[in-house]
Amino acid sequence: MAINIKRPNGTEDVLPKDVYKWHTIEKIARDTAESFGFSEIRIPTFENTDLFLRSVGETTDVVQKEMYTVKAKETEFTLRPEGTAGTIRAMLQNGLLNEALPQKVYYILSCFRHERPQAGRLREFHQFGLEMAGSAAPTADAEVISLAKNLLDRLGLKNIELHINSIGCPTCRAEYHKALKAYFEPHREELCDTCKERLVKNPMRLLDCKSPICKEIGKDAPLIIDYLCDECKEHFESVKKYLTNWSIDYIVDPKIVRGLDYYTKTVFEFITNEIGAQGTVCAGGRYDGLIEQLGGQHVPALGFATGIERLLLVMDKQGCDYLTPKKCDIYFATMGDAALEKAMELTKGLREYGYCAEYDLMGRGIKPQMKYANKIGAVYTLVLGDNELQEGKAKLKEMESGKETEILLNDKFTANFENEFFNKVLDVMDAEGSPMFAFTGEDK
Ligand code: ATP
Ligand code: MG
Repeated sequence: MAINIKRPNGTEDVLPKDVYKWHTIEKIARDTAESFGFSEIRIPTFENTDLFLRSVGETTDVVQKEMYTVKAKETEFTLRPEGTAGTIRAMLQNGLLNEALPQKVYYILSCFRHERPQAGRLREFHQFGLEMAGSAAPTADAEVISLAKNLLDRLGLKNIELHINSIGCPTCRAEYHKALKAYFEPHREELCDTCKERLVKNPMRLLDCKSPICKEIGKDAPLIIDYLCDECKEHFESVKKYLTNWSIDYIVDPKIVRGLDYYTKTVFEFITNEIGAQGTVCAGGRYDGLIEQLGGQHVPALGFATGIERLLLVMDKQGCDYLTPKKCDIYFATMGDAALEKAMELTKGLREYGYCAEYDLMGRGIKPQMKYANKIGAVYTLVLGDNELQEGKAKLKEMESGKETEILLNDKFTANFENEFFNKVLDVMDAEGSPMFAFTGEDK
């Protein structure tokens, strides 16, 4: 039997040449969340399957078709299809909800869903997301939406529409479900099998069906927004008012019901039409019933998640800026053992100072060493051979301009910052304002 060791369908490798794009999103996401007072949480990659049945909901696509459930010995687990369930589980299990409220956490994690792979839709994908637990106030909704908007702005994204809706609370939804059932009942036989079941168990999910037939049937279905109770209506009005006060544009889109069961009141999506059909880059909302459903007190909560791969698609498409990847600051090209040992000593010192310094690890001659330095994009090179060591002088070459600066290698030739050599190298580097220090600038 042929052995298949290829990457599974719907997964991706992120190569070293592209990883700086991920670093950019991760850094900006962390900075944004932290500037709103959110802290990072890290949760397991797999959870007990029941957690997702309970939270995401049995009538959702995720639970019905997309979960990766694995059996190890006698125990069954599911790879997380999203981050909210695990995060809320962790909050409950670790007593975070007994601490100062609101609790505000963010995460960057991989998710697993067995879907048909296509552009912007993978089987392993990554999310930056966050959850806020404890506040029922509409300020919290506005805060979370504005954080998402702020993140997209900081990433430099343009032309992303914010769509918002309210899907009410269990009180208003009871009336709405009746209306939906009455609307779809005459079409029962034409619906897809999943929707036949939804019609009984959870009619609102019908509106999120991707089948063209069900979509067409649902075109004129009653809208939840016309069934909101006074409290939900007032809440929605306040959220909209705060967004307007902050000049955050939005479109009220009564068709958004969201893919997961746990949402209540405000739901929202940030949508672009620039990357094809999978245009939702960020989605979220309020889920006031979830914590109770998972065995906690009644604690209202809300959050959102962005798909990192989709953000990257839009950023590439729009030519957004990324942080500069870190490159080799200085490469020591050496001839002979004595020079090699000096180079090893010098790199050690420079690295302690926060610079990226390298030397020959392949036993190559000077020429191929310089070729290598060029390939890796070294900003400076310094050739060290017997002559240089004897004369106590060497030339620091800036690769791009070819400019050379003579440097004295003094007697006390040690990896020590008092050393004249280091000070000179560092001076030259700083004066040139090497762009390679974008990531380490503050740490030096
Ligand atoms: P969709 O309608 O696109 O299937 P969803 O409602 O299933 O999305 P959520 O569960 O809300 O998605 O996940 C939040 C975000 O995660 C989405 O807006 C999207 O950016 C991203 N996302 C969801 N599923 C995938 C996937 N299979 N591959 C890549 N990104 C995804
Ligand atoms: Mg989906």
